[in-house]
Amino acid sequence: MQNSFDIAVFQGDGIGPEIMAPTLSLLDHLAAGKYALNFVDAPAGAAHYARTGESLPAASMAVARAADAILLSAMGLPDVRYPDGTEISPQIDLRKALTLFAGVRPVTIRPGQPTPLALKDGQTVDFVLIRESTEGLFHTQGRGEVTQDEARETLLITRAISEPLFRFAFDLAKARKAAGRGPGKVTCVDKANVFRAFAFFREMFDAEAAKHPDIIADHAYVDATALWMVERPWAFDVMVTENMFGDILSDLGAGLMGGLGLAPSADIGADHAVFQPCHGSAPDIAGQGVANPMAMILSAAMMLEWLGGRHDMPDMVADGDRLRAAVEAVIAAGKVASRDLGGSAGTSEVADAVRAALT
Ligand code: ATP
Repeated sequence: MQNSFDIAVFQGDGIGPEIMAPTLSLLDHLAAGKYALNFVDAPAGAAHYARTGESLPAASMAVARAADAILLSAMGLPDVRYPDGTEISPQIDLRKALTLFAGVRPVTIRPGQPTPLALKDGQTVDFVLIRESTEGLFHTQGRGEVTQDEARETLLITRAISEPLFRFAFDLAKARKAAGRGPGKVTCVDKANVFRAFAFFREMFDAEAAKHPDIIADHAYVDATALWMVERPWAFDVMVTENMFGDILSDLGAGLMGGLGLAPSADIGADHAVFQPCHGSAPDIAGQGVANPMAMILSAAMMLEWLGGRHDMPDMVADGDRLRAAVEAVIAAGKVASRDLGGSAGTSEVADAVRAALT
């Protein structure tokens, strides 16, 4: 059985390296004696582009392709752009090149988290938004047609992507149910009442749902979903949606969680997966040692759960769970908080507190 795993590490820009270092150290600490994680550096990003003229070198792409999983902190800097003025975002290139169709965005609100929602005492929120990440309204990204009088972009929904996407959503609901984290429910979020493309999307969702009688399947329109995410977010378990809808709803989700510093994510395909925090490279606070590493650490926890599940390693899955629980324990205790959470703790202080909270 495979016991040693190559992890491609994209340190990235801005606060990227600052939040990656303590995360790798926590991963090493968890792995000790049970399995090996070999971290392989993959240089890329805006600073790399400024130095070398390449934002995602072929060698780094090869490291990503060969790896068992990919950890990425944050990439991009506001003042470093391609000659056409567009942003440098190798993470989007990776998503496309590796066909990472399932953007997984957990939305969890635990005790002590500074949510704008008025939750009752002890009430928690725990659902997962899956954003299709390779097609939808992003299909013609950068290729939209614009004339003097009209602009046109094309939304694409394909069977080749939607079927594995829905399979992934139902499998995730099943795994969450087995772990006691949800009732086993998948909600298809669309606009099937207005667009034929979404009726097609929903038809494929229903066909997949029919194969999972043990999982509840329902539908919601995207506008109503935005409302319900604020009014009764605890009612969701797994929701799956198109790329642009998911783009918008995942920021709403991050807002409910009390900000970007706590929002992890994964972009998962059939053979590869990238784990990265939802936030950007935060150049305004880079180099000061004050960035909150929790979203990065929670993304690493998602990696352990995915990798462990894929290789049938319950120890590794349990470590992912322990790491997430440790972050939640630090938030709940409220003693060590970074500036974005209203405290004054630095990056290493927060990471040390997480390590101390591991059970
Ligand atoms: P991008 O477009 O690359 O996603 P963005 O423009 O949304 O980036 P971020 O880099 O995510 O911006 O930063 C937004 C704000 O949140 C900044 O003020 C930044 O300092 C803050 N921020 C982001 N991540 C963190 C973090 N991990 N810890 C503390 N503050 C953060």
